[in-house]
Amino acid sequence: MTEDKSHPEHLLRECAPGAAGGPAAQPPAARVEPLESLSDDDVPMVIATRFLEAFRQPGCPMCFLGQQALDDYFSHWVWDYVSDADLREAMRRGLGMCAEHTWQLLHTDVREYGETFGVSIIYQELVAHTIRLMERVALEAQAREAQRPSRLERLRHWLSRRSAARRWFLPARWRGSPLLKAAECHVCAYRAESERRSTYWLVQVLRHAENRTRYAASDGLCLPHLRAALELALEIEPGVARFLAASAGQHLEALAADLDRYIAKRAWDRRHEAMTAGEQEAAQRASRFFGGLDGWSAERKRLDSI
Ligand SMILES: [Zn+2]
Ligand SMILES: [Zn+2]
Repeated sequence: MTEDKSHPEHLLRECAPGAAGGPAAQPPAARVEPLESLSDDDVPMVIATRFLEAFRQPGCPMCFLGQQALDDYFSHWVWDYVSDADLREAMRRGLGMCAEHTWQLLHTDVREYGETFGVSIIYQELVAHTIRLMERVALEAQAREAQRPSRLERLRHWLSRRSAARRWFLPARWRGSPLLKAAECHVCAYRAESERRSTYWLVQVLRHAENRTRYAASDGLCLPHLRAALELALEIEPGVARFLAASAGQHLEALAADLDRYIAKRAWDRRHEAMTAGEQEAAQRASRFFGGLDGWSAERKRLDSI
């Protein structure tokens, strides 16, 4: 009996040109390969090329692809925001985004367009929405203040305030006002989905020996992405898991040796010994391995940016 290894259909969105985890808000016109036309040997050329390009970049290839996907995402929606009702709704539901993506959006606008017109439009509406929200919260607070309770009700309120103050320090039990609820950052949600797709394709790409050679010459995956790839590969492609673990082991052996030498050469009696570049960079390499690439870079340009 042959194992069914055909690609899950939703992953085939990645086949569409430009769908590099392309912008969720404005998906490119998809030319999706029919599921049955892909055997488990097929990695769409556009996907394979993208990974081979990522293997040539410094740092974790998955971090690199993730950064590209987010750059695309932000660049598109700075332009599309006004006409994209879903996006505006996502911003209202989330009351903006997480701190990381809030700043990434601003920096992307400045870097790519040299100004902040797009981001100004985005916040013009969100600020107006938040003003209305604050008005509703103020009304709610006013209504609570205006209550003139009986003695028994005052006791009840005192107990309920004391209980709320205690729950505040136990976040799992805290139930906040529905008025102030906000959805998860929609860019974080997009990134998580995009990373799942990329992880799947990475495992497929690494089934091929020539791609493994290219991967082995790269800096390798950071630990968060390595763990995700190993989780999946252990289940669907144990050979890829073995390769990834062995390759990471080799990188880590070299890193361990450089860390040891760097620390040893900081000793008083060896302080005049020259450091190699690898030794000097050891702490940065360790940080990149455990933390991945820094999320945003002023130097990075989208490939198709104007
Ligand atoms: Zn990474
Ligand atoms: Zn976020």
